[in-house]
Amino acid sequence: MNETNPRRQFLKLTGAAAGLGMLVTALPRHARADELPHVPETDPTASALGYREDASKVDDAKYPTHKAGLLCSNCQFFGGTDKTSWAACQLFPGKAVSAKGWCSGYNAKK
Ligand code: SF4
Repeated sequence: MNETNPRRQFLKLTGAAAGLGMLVTALPRHARADELPHVPETDPTASALGYREDASKVDDAKYPTHKAGLLCSNCQFFGGTDKTSWAACQLFPGKAVSAKGWCSGYNAKK
């Protein structure tokens, strides 16, 4: 059956558009990294992993695997780009870590 009635076509299209709009608003929204709360260094997991927002403040005696230049921004668990200052980290679900930070869960991007 071929739709040639313009009024019927219009009603079909507007109905489909309204339905799509309702679907989009009903979908769960993924938080953007800049909306995520920052991981506090006092967080129990962060503390256990030696997370510091500023990697230059890592206690190298306590964390000998830390080396200068190892940063969240070049860790495979960092969800941002090289231009992102804060981003999600797979080790801290629902929170953001600093691109200049580091923790002992660090694993270099491949
Ligand atoms: S796992 Fe990687 S990105 Fe996450 S806090 Fe540790 S060093 Fe940063």
